[in-house]
Amino acid sequence: MIYLDHCATTPTDKRVVEKMIPYFGDIFGNASSSHSMGHQASEAVADARTKVAKLINADTSEIYFTSGGTEADNIAIRGIYHKLTPKKNHIITSRIEHHAVLHTIEDLEKHYCAEATYLDTDSNGLIDLNQLESAITEKTALVSVMTANNETGVIQPMEEIGRICSEKGVLLHSDIVQAVGKIHIDVKKMGISLSAISAHKFYGPKGVGALYIRKGVRLPKLTTGGGQESGIRPGTYNTPGIVGMGEACRLATFEMDSHAKHTSELRDYFEKRLTETIPNVSFRGSNTKRLPQVSNVGLAYVEGESILMSMEMEGGVQASSGSACTAGDLHASHVLLAMGISHADANGSIRFSFGKDNTKAQADRVIDILPPIIERLRKMSPLTHKEE
Ligand code: PLP
Repeated sequence: MIYLDHCATTPTDKRVVEKMIPYFGDIFGNASSSHSMGHQASEAVADARTKVAKLINADTSEIYFTSGGTEADNIAIRGIYHKLTPKKNHIITSRIEHHAVLHTIEDLEKHYCAEATYLDTDSNGLIDLNQLESAITEKTALVSVMTANNETGVIQPMEEIGRICSEKGVLLHSDIVQAVGKIHIDVKKMGISLSAISAHKFYGPKGVGALYIRKGVRLPKLTTGGGQESGIRPGTYNTPGIVGMGEACRLATFEMDSHAKHTSELRDYFEKRLTETIPNVSFRGSNTKRLPQVSNVGLAYVEGESILMSMEMEGGVQASSGSACTAGDLHASHVLLAMGISHADANGSIRFSFGKDNTKAQADRVIDILPPIIERLRKMSPLTHKEE
């Protein structure tokens, strides 16, 4: 198997698993219990909180553990909206956000009278800062713009976005799920007030994440229960998961730069070789700053799902496509469409995302098998003949 889908999830680092194991066994106590085993667990949670905070330059008290990125995005966006509405009922976001953000805002529009502005992107996948600035009104409760896109890896100019929001006095939420552990994140410098993080995207366990809430920003309690995490996210602590997330953050602090160097070299080599071996190939977002490990490859005239199937059958290659099949219908990626890519071209896209353990030999293997697959599929494709 050649796993090139690290934007979907990463394998949990063995060192992370080792740190987690005691909290499934000898130290199984509830972190809220007042006995000694409870204290041991709560100390481990506090220690993990420090490590998460350090990775993004937050204060420890600004980190709230959640079940992952989706929950953190929901708490942030719904929380701010419900706190500020009806005085402020306008949300600004971009067309390329993850569904954890887009569907949340759509739900607020549908059921809670929110009004939303969806910022366009240019062909590189960057939002227009002038459009952002002019969209902000006295009714704007929140701006939500992701730091790095999960399909293309394109990185937004967050410091400038943060400056615009702070000058206009509007809170900025940024989904930093894909960026954490890949590039340096400094929430203070970026002017972010709320941010979602997910451990499984950077060699931590699945089902655990965190919400950063800048000191002074208050959220209502959307769920009620035992009052953990100051009532922002009540529920018994997932101590093993939290410990694992803390360790993944600690490792990322030291290892992120060398991983970035390795994956970007591999990605650049891969793209160069694909250009040499496949006609009509393009790389989405490659004219601007991208995450080091992502290559979103446009393969004209063919359909992504067929490429994926052939790559897995013929070479055990696992990647992901720019389309999703829902109830038999092929939906082109909203991210690629927002970049002005046609439905047909968006459907002919594959996202390869490299990880720290991928090798040049693996990239070479994909480069060996992909050109004949594309040639075969293009021969069969009605789109090829239409163009000719
Ligand atoms: N935001 C982005 C940009 C993502 O890529 C993902 C996961 O794919 C999420 C949010 C959701 O995170 P989680 O899987 O932890 O719920």
